[in-house]
Amino acid sequence: MDFARRFGTELAVSLLMHPGRGCIPAATGGPRDCFWSLRQGRETGYPPETPERIPMSHSSHACDHASGLAHQVREATGESAFRCYQCGKCSAGCPLAAEMDVPPSQILRLLQLGLPDAEQEALLAYSIWVCLTCETCAARCPQEVDIPRVMEYLRQESLRRGTMHPRAKDILAFHRSLLDSVRRSGRLHEVSLIATYKLRTGHLLQDVMAAPGMLVRGKLSLLPHSIDGKQEVARIFERTAEGKADHA
Ligand code: SF4
Ligand code: SF4
Repeated sequence: MDFARRFGTELAVSLLMHPGRGCIPAATGGPRDCFWSLRQGRETGYPPETPERIPMSHSSHACDHASGLAHQVREATGESAFRCYQCGKCSAGCPLAAEMDVPPSQILRLLQLGLPDAEQEALLAYSIWVCLTCETCAARCPQEVDIPRVMEYLRQESLRRGTMHPRAKDILAFHRSLLDSVRRSGRLHEVSLIATYKLRTGHLLQDVMAAPGMLVRGKLSLLPHSIDGKQEVARIFERTAEGKADHA
């Protein structure tokens, strides 16, 4: 990873130019100690002895500055990237880690750094779109960091800023097609999902040979099933749209 290679130099320069920025806990001996603690975490893959969950308040972090992405994540989700001490258990257990360009633990490290390049790299990462929200990482994390919530926020922020990874286009098309189907029918209708996904992406022939067999076995229904509570589902979408408008 380019950023990882540049990590040492950029962090050192940042600490020299912006004392107090880019470090982990302000309670340590200052930028120099922060730098070495980060170096140690990166080189060993495991932090210095941390036997217990470390409570880290908002105010205890010099780098959780009000304009940074980590601060935005915290405001929106309640999750603090600074709670992470880079043990790597989340990345080791993530079933999609092999498909990711930046492992989950390193996404948090990029947020911790608070540098514009690092934040941009987190928002450009393919990983935030590959994440399945399976919660494996959150269950394994000794610091109880809810990484899927962080990933979800980063996806939305990446969309807002127009910094999506190019390969995320199809994933976004799938998300939108699925939500459109639920909005229209009150529940998922697979055929409309597939049709709108193909129209959005242009992958008209992808998996097309699987369709006849699925239709014969009754796995696909040409018409959507009607459900009770369709209006309530539609209302959820309206309320969500209203909420987005309020926050715009
Ligand atoms: S929630 Fe996302 S990041 Fe966490 S383990 Fe699952 S796929 Fe990986
Ligand atoms: S498991 Fe938790 S503490 Fe360990 S690297 Fe992942 S987020 Fe950080």
